[in-house]
Amino acid sequence: MNNFLTDTNRFVDKALKLTSISAGLANKIITCNSTYTVRFGVRLRNDIYTFEGWRSVHSEHMEPTKGGIRFDISTHVEEVEALAALMSYKNAIINVPFGGSKGGLKINPKDWDEKEIEKITRRFSQELIKRDLISPSQNVPAPDIGTSSREMAWIADEYRKMSPTDINASACVTGKPANKNGLIGREEATGRGVQYILREFFKHDDLVSSIKYSSGISKKSFILQGFGNVGYNASKFLTEDDGMKLIGIAEYNGGIYNENGLNVNHAKKFFVKHGSFENYPKGNFVKDGSLLLKRKCDVLIPAARENVITSKNAADIKTKLIIEAANGPISFDAHKILAKNKVFIIPDILANSGGVAVSYFEWVQNRQHYRWTLDRVRQELDHTMTQAFEDVWQMAQQSNVSLRTAAYIIGINRVRRAAELAGFAT
Ligand code: NAD
Repeated sequence: MNNFLTDTNRFVDKALKLTSISAGLANKIITCNSTYTVRFGVRLRNDIYTFEGWRSVHSEHMEPTKGGIRFDISTHVEEVEALAALMSYKNAIINVPFGGSKGGLKINPKDWDEKEIEKITRRFSQELIKRDLISPSQNVPAPDIGTSSREMAWIADEYRKMSPTDINASACVTGKPANKNGLIGREEATGRGVQYILREFFKHDDLVSSIKYSSGISKKSFILQGFGNVGYNASKFLTEDDGMKLIGIAEYNGGIYNENGLNVNHAKKFFVKHGSFENYPKGNFVKDGSLLLKRKCDVLIPAARENVITSKNAADIKTKLIIEAANGPISFDAHKILAKNKVFIIPDILANSGGVAVSYFEWVQNRQHYRWTLDRVRQELDHTMTQAFEDVWQMAQQSNVSLRTAAYIIGINRVRRAAELAGFAT
């Protein structure tokens, strides 16, 4: 069984060895500052149901700390701590003034109707708010697996009720609906960021030729895993704006394949209506969606969850380019196998940082009480992602390391500098 937290720490450790950081400080940087476990009861269906959740703060070198909340039956404390750590480095790589945090609630959202989910979300929020684990100045959540702008609106509403005179109350959470103090463009942001990062890759002829691809992003084929917020938006923009060809979509309950190309919106409508790709008329149904990861394509985009490429299937991966839209999709051992096979990996902490970049814009907008336009959001996101890609690529060349290790070196050094200035080790 792969351990996401152990693997995250192994990636960090590898990068730490290439910095001048002492063993003691390295240990402090790796260690998650605190994790709060909450178990709360909710009256539902004439009974009381107990739910378990976590909010982890990895590093408070900058506040507020920032990171999503996922609703997922398989989430657990170590997963949440790993995700909180990724947030510290991710925020540093794109230079947003946040520490790293993450939350999780152990629940299968499909087991409950909308009213029940609302009640559960509000109860979970109350528990976190009263401990300052949701707060505009201390800790600001956002959507992740199993949550969306709807849950963020309920969280914001709970905070407002508990702090009615706080004029910045709406900055307690990002990813809210645009008409509820959210930011137009936040919902698409992580997928949009994946698009911008992939575009940057294809603008670098040296990188493109290093994997023996012809130049240009247009007409390159890709296979996607996870057709949710991140996967849907990334594949929509890459096909519609950049002329890429989506040839496979893997979901948890099966996938579809068509080497002539799939239409993203048609596939999405079908999946939302039927809850599965079975009998999809414009592609071949593949019962075990994970098999699609092994098919030939120019770019593989895992956008579902962690540990989907491990030492068990890494050697069978046929693409030469993977962009990690999900957090932690490739295990530490799988990364080694892929690197040996000359597969180029654009790591999660760079590739999916567009979500938190735009969350930062939303937080700023909420505190400015000034509405940004979609053009401005996209322009600033593009600038942020391009700069981050350049920083990481330059570090990779300078230190002769993978893009992942380069991204961690940058993240670690920036966390360290901010932490020292904040006197965190005194
Ligand atoms: P989501 O819940 O909207 O979508 C996830 C999708 O993946 C769902 O359609 C689900 O059915 C599918 N899925 C789950 N397990 C699968 C499996 N084993 N095989 C194939 N498909 C599977 O979640 P999301 O917000 O799109 O997040 C996806 C990933 O991106 C996560 O790793 C998350 O941490 C990361 N991420 C999300 C954001 C964001 O803004 N939402 C930002 C950064 C990173």
